[in-house]
Amino acid sequence: MGTHLSRTVAEGLAFMNLIDGKAIDALSGARIDVVCPSDGVVFASIPASGQADVDRAVQAARNAFDEGPWGRTPAVERGRCLTRLCQLVEKHGTELAALESRDTGKPVRQGRADVVATMRYYEFYGGAADKIHGDTIPFLDGYTALTLREPHGVVAGIIPWNYPLQILARVVGAALAMGNTLVVKPAEDASLTTIRIAELALEAGVPPGVFNVTTGYGREAGAMLSAHPGVDYVTFTGSVGTGTAIQQAAAVHNRGVTMELGGKSPQIVFADADIEAALPVLVNAIIQNGGQTCSAGSRVLIERPIYEEVATGLAERFARLAAGPHDADLDLGALLNARQRDRVAAMVAEAERAGIRVLARGSIDKAAPAGGFYFAPALFGAVDPGAAIAQQEVFGPVLTLFPFEDEQDAIRLANGTDYGLVCGVWTKDGARQHRVAKRVRSGQVFINGYGAGGGIELPFGGFKRSGHGREKGLEALYDMSATKTIVFNHG
Ligand code: NAP
Ligand code: MG
Repeated sequence: MGTHLSRTVAEGLAFMNLIDGKAIDALSGARIDVVCPSDGVVFASIPASGQADVDRAVQAARNAFDEGPWGRTPAVERGRCLTRLCQLVEKHGTELAALESRDTGKPVRQGRADVVATMRYYEFYGGAADKIHGDTIPFLDGYTALTLREPHGVVAGIIPWNYPLQILARVVGAALAMGNTLVVKPAEDASLTTIRIAELALEAGVPPGVFNVTTGYGREAGAMLSAHPGVDYVTFTGSVGTGTAIQQAAAVHNRGVTMELGGKSPQIVFADADIEAALPVLVNAIIQNGGQTCSAGSRVLIERPIYEEVATGLAERFARLAAGPHDADLDLGALLNARQRDRVAAMVAEAERAGIRVLARGSIDKAAPAGGFYFAPALFGAVDPGAAIAQQEVFGPVLTLFPFEDEQDAIRLANGTDYGLVCGVWTKDGARQHRVAKRVRSGQVFINGYGAGGGIELPFGGFKRSGHGREKGLEALYDMSATKTIVFNHG
């Protein structure tokens, strides 16, 4: 299938890399089948890029940075490109949402929500591009000192499969706003909207070579890109293990990285909480996107006097949850692929073998195709905080409940995993809200609410093994640039 020059339905949607503004196949012609998780059927293909393709993309980004017009494009103009990209995402929103849902199995309303968030990223960073500036610094007599925020140069973005449109947008928005150029390697199971967005970016006026895409396997194209000597900075979202490998590769070249490595995020429900308000939020925080969300609220810590009431309320809701094809738009879709479904199933089976009680299971819709990668939601309680299911990221629709005795116990449990991404706190006690928010080790804390994803203007990132560096908000623009200090001796 190596000779497609453009994709058509008749050709089976053969997608291409986008390098230096051109749609081109991998040099080898090797391709990867794209499977729809809802039925397990192949509906498209992408290039399986190798070293030559990655070299070519990095060289294109290098040339665009060093010699192309991008380096001389004023910040306001870079921002306008992103604003036009926002408008093009809106114009093509229906197509993008449908493509994302079909590629990842997520319900179509989640695909639409992802498009809305994606627009918001390009809108936010389009508006922010010319509003980040340096300082003047009081220094010695006879001197003037100032700082500039300068782009890193060529940024490599390794994008995961759970929210491809959104995670791409937070990388592209911040990187291009600050004047970097980009090579993106999307996940092999969810590359299609990344290619479409790169095409739309060209249409929005981003010059050729500024935003390149090479698809392929993580262990091949991903590893080649993250180890490439021509890359100046790497931003990665995904698993801890792959993040560690990418940091080791970055260490060889002494270059900076932003790492967003998932979590085991707790929600703490105190006895004075508004339980009716909390219950739907607790369920949604783990069911959204089938639990395949880095900030999924996968642990609920419940103060002992209300444990039974909250557990019963959650069990009733879990029993009503149904998984089905993306276009049936049920509570959740299929999981990404068979490997992911089997991984979740194995972790649930291990918890059951360990004697942890299943409080409720959701169902798989009877009309769901047999070839799809479905998993019925599972609610466990009370869970031993040391159990694997309490400590490891499941990345599926699996919620674990834990009783706690008092505030100190809650904080100890909340901080009792290797991760620290997001925390929810449910209480009406204002002083407690502040105390707990300060003592939990996590990058975001929500009081009487929870935001799994969303909140484009809110800085986001991890403590502990959840990673380092910050994305979203204005903070991402600092990650995507470096400070240059200039000192004038004028006597
Ligand atoms: P992963 O390996 O971390 O994949 C994330 C991205 O890294 C994908 O683009 C992947 O490409 C790429 N990649 C894989 N190996 C690489 C390497 N050696 N060098 C450079 N890039 C590489 O995650 P996964 O295996 O798909 O999922 C496993 C678990 O990771 C999940 O169950 C979940 O717990 C966690 N995860 C977390 C997030 C998050 O948002 N924090 C996202 C995804 C997964 P390919 O997909 O083409 O291999
Ligand atoms: Mg797919």
